[in-house]
Amino acid sequence: MVSGEYHDGRSTRIRRVQVMLEGDQLSWRGDDVQGAAQLVQVNVSARMIGVPFTLRLPNGAQLQIAHDDMPGDWLRGRHRIETLVDWLERKRWVALASVLVIGLSLFGWLEYGMPWMADRIAARMPQRMDVAMGQQALTLMRGRMLLPSHLPAERQAHLRELFDRFSRNVTGLPAVHLAIYDSPSIGANAFALPDGTVVFTDTLLKALPDDASFIAVSAHELGHLAYHHQMREVMRNVGLTVMISMAFGDVTSLSGISAAVPTFLLNNHYSRAFEADADDFAFQALARQGIDPIAFADAMHALERAHPGAADGREVRYMSNHPLDAERIAKAEAASRQFRKL
Ligand SMILES: [Zn+2]
Repeated sequence: MVSGEYHDGRSTRIRRVQVMLEGDQLSWRGDDVQGAAQLVQVNVSARMIGVPFTLRLPNGAQLQIAHDDMPGDWLRGRHRIETLVDWLERKRWVALASVLVIGLSLFGWLEYGMPWMADRIAARMPQRMDVAMGQQALTLMRGRMLLPSHLPAERQAHLRELFDRFSRNVTGLPAVHLAIYDSPSIGANAFALPDGTVVFTDTLLKALPDDASFIAVSAHELGHLAYHHQMREVMRNVGLTVMISMAFGDVTSLSGISAAVPTFLLNNHYSRAFEADADDFAFQALARQGIDPIAFADAMHALERAHPGAADGREVRYMSNHPLDAERIAKAEAASRQFRKL
């Protein structure tokens, strides 16, 4: 038997009653009121910590029983989920564990899930999305950051010829072409845009010692293109909604994203893993066409010599995007040894 309050549903009067359950029969008795009902006909509110239970009776009246007074077996078979939640809410360790699980899931999603999904979607992205994104980005940069090249026309024609001949024999590429610009603001740099444009600046071309080193840097950029690095990087940062609309070829979703491409190219850099992949791609592509991969190391050393100390941030973009580290040079040297053995 438990104490409760009886509200008749017509007046505001509250009557104190004693409530009991015998078999399936619920009965109450108190201040000039008494009655009974089958438990199955009584609608019992869900369990919520600190909130009294409301038992709606068939006659339209209600019984209220304090939360902690409610006998558990009166609820048997009802509100299973709420009962479970209530139990969970009472256990502090469950709450802490939940926070931990949610935190770990979030971390896992951001660290692995999202990049995984971004890669899958980038790989299936309609080609016209890459083209549209690359062209929009190029349009934004042209006239501001990218000015007409001052290299002699014959030199440009020669480089273009080298680039075309090399890239034609590299498999797994979209349509690519070389674009040469003068860019006082971005200094010595080379980058690939998702539409297949590989941009070299005059300053970078002047710093490279020979044709082979030019081809080596081109091969590295072609690696970024072959692996869709630009799109994958963009996809990691746009969020799910944009990702999905892009996957369905919605070009309007590109506005805004394309504007971020130049900023990314000039201020950020690919992950080490992406750089290592582009390097490996380059070493293989070079070797396959009879060019010693040491040309890549030569290019890196030449760039470093051209900008000793890497003091002026403007002039050493390629080096800041592509840090010269011993590991990359060692890999180029290893690829070269391998090449010479063949
Ligand atoms: Zn790179």
